[in-house]
Amino acid sequence: MSAPDQVARARKGVLRHPARRYGASELGVPLECFGPEEGPVDLLVMASMHGDECDSTVALSEALRLVPEGRLANPAILSVNPDGVLRGTRCNANGVDLNRNWPASNWSPEPVRYKDHGKTERDIVLGTGSSAGSEAETRHLLALVERLRPRAIVSLHTPLGCIDDPDDSLLGRWIAAETGLPLVPDVGYATPGSFGSWCAEQHIPIITWELPAEPLPAVIDSHVPVLFRLLTGSFAGELG
Ligand SMILES: [Zn+2]
Repeated sequence: MSAPDQVARARKGVLRHPARRYGASELGVPLECFGPEEGPVDLLVMASMHGDECDSTVALSEALRLVPEGRLANPAILSVNPDGVLRGTRCNANGVDLNRNWPASNWSPEPVRYKDHGKTERDIVLGTGSSAGSEAETRHLLALVERLRPRAIVSLHTPLGCIDDPDDSLLGRWIAAETGLPLVPDVGYATPGSFGSWCAEQHIPIITWELPAEPLPAVIDSHVPVLFRLLTGSFAGELG
């Protein structure tokens, strides 16, 4: 059974909301956004800035496909980094970690090191771009954010299992309460040139929603209902 305000299960296999193209990736793949085209919007929800975190794309897609036509209140980007998703890499096609390529004052040309899953060392090297904002995916998303003028942004990642909200906002607290994930003020290490750093300088509140390292069906069960409420704007009453 489906909830009465959701698309019926038999119809949820297909994404029926029109996709709007906001640019193309470095490999020429369309960059797509679903929902309102013009701002201001309450919220922008996005997934897969890191291409190897595509559980975030599947979870957001599940939520988007449950939203009835005409009820999509807030825009959604299923993959900020489609080339990375296609290739199964954290970086884009140029070897750049897009979450270190933003033109924030703390952008650094120093390579970034990350760890793959499990208890490994943080020793795998990626670039941050030839300059701040050098990558097509960054430039087009920046222009889209300026056009949509979201009052807040939610960016989905995996697998740290926390809600990172430096502003300790009502929305962050609400997502943490609904998902059961801990609310944290940072992820515990410096992130120069991150999307969060850029948003902070633009005075756009950003919540980084790190899905937990759980099997995808469990993630869908516990997180898609919350994402659905963000997309339909049916959470506002909870925030007073
Ligand atoms: Zn990530």
